[in-house]
Parts: sequence; structure tokens; C-alpha cells
Amino acid sequence: MTRFREAFSYIATEIIKNRDFLNQLDVIGDGDHGTNMSRGFKAALEALDESESENPQELLHLVGVAFAENIGGASGPLYATAFLRASSACTEDTKFNVSGVERLLQAAVHGIEKRGRVQCGAKTMLDVIYPVYQCFLPEQSADKTLYQCLQMAVKAAKEGVDYTATIPATKGRAAYIGERSIGHTDPGAMSSFIMVCALFDFLKL
Ligand code: ADP
Ligand code: MG
Repeated sequence: MTRFREAFSYIATEIIKNRDFLNQLDVIGDGDHGTNMSRGFKAALEALDESESENPQELLHLVGVAFAENIGGASGPLYATAFLRASSACTEDTKFNVSGVERLLQAAVHGIEKRGRVQCGAKTMLDVIYPVYQCFLPEQSADKTLYQCLQMAVKAAKEGVDYTATIPATKGRAAYIGERSIGHTDPGAMSSFIMVCALFDFLKL
């Protein structure tokens, strides 16, 4: 699980680097998405540093709690739920292979759908996370390696994030401006996209 820590820290660095960019995209909300995500990731890194666990269930749980406790915005509880649900979906023999990741992503997607009362097409993080999850389903992932699935996932995530710019927001703060949000990319979709790209880049190292 040292690799989990390395991957997580790589993803955190990318999000923190993009703090101002994510804040700018949150012009359709209140301009704080990058600040929120940076704060959550920093707290999660600290929590991981303080733990000696090598168990994925515990590590994902620590991340979820750090997000829940340190992010005030809507994205905090939603990403927290995703990590906590993924943690609960871990079993003793969970591995970060194609079927393992499919299981964790399925739990994360269901958690976000329920907590956010959201479906795809509402201009949220789900418009990236759901198509990413689909890349790991047997229909798309048969005979593929984790690396190849993530390669597909980056493409699907890019399409998802671009799609958010074409639709009005119906959930979250951006829903207040409704149709006027068309033309703007959703910040939460972008933070999810950055995470997927970072994980892919990390695996390339
Ligand atoms: P806040 O909107 O409270 O300021 P953030 O700016 O950190 O929180 O996060 C905004 C992002 O959260 C949005 O861009 C969107 O992707 C996501 N979001 C907001 N509400 C929902 C929801 N109900 N379901 C899924 N995602 C949501
Ligand atoms: Mg905001």
C-alpha cells in the first residue's frame, strides 16, 4: 500500500497546483472549489502521514474522514462519501486491479448519487466519475490492463468535463444561475478529471 500513498500524494499535488484554476471555474458558484479541495487533500495527506496502516480499507477511510471534516462546501461531503463508500466496499483481498477498481468506483458512484440526489446531466462531478466507472465494467474492460482502462478513463473523463460546459446546472450553487451556467465548465467535474489524469500519469512513472 506504499503505492497507494504515493499515488494519493501525486494526485493531491496536482489538485493543490490547480487551486487557483479550480477557484476560477467556480465563478458559476462562489469561487472556492480549489480552496476547498486543497484544504481537503492537505488534511488527508496529514492523516495518512499519521497512520502506519497499509490496509486499503483504513487508508480510504482516513481520506474520507479528512474530507468530511475539512471541506465546508458541497464537494466535501460528496467526495468524502465517495471515499468512505469505496472504503466500505474493500474486502480482505481487495487489490487495485481492474475488477477491484470497478468495485470501488461503483460504491463511490452510488454514494454520490444518493448523497447528492444527483444523476448524470446535472453538471456535476458525477458527469466525469460515472463515465470513468463505466470504463472498468466488463463490457469495456475485458482483456484490458489497469493501465489501458485508465487510458480509456482519461478520454471518457475529458468528454465528461467538456460536456458539463454544454449544459445548465441543476444541482449545487451553480443551479442558482441555471441557464447562464451554459458555456462554463463545472469545477467539480474538473477536479475529478484532474484526479483521473493524475492517477494515469502516476502509473506511467
Ligand atoms: P460549494 O458549491 O458548496 O461552494 P464547492 O465549490 O467545493 O462547494 O463544490 C462545487 C462542486 O460540487 C460543483 O462544481 C459540483 O461538481 C459539485 N456538486 C454540487 N452539488 C452537487 C450534488 N448535489 N451532487 C453532485 N455534485 C455536486
Ligand atoms: Mg464553491
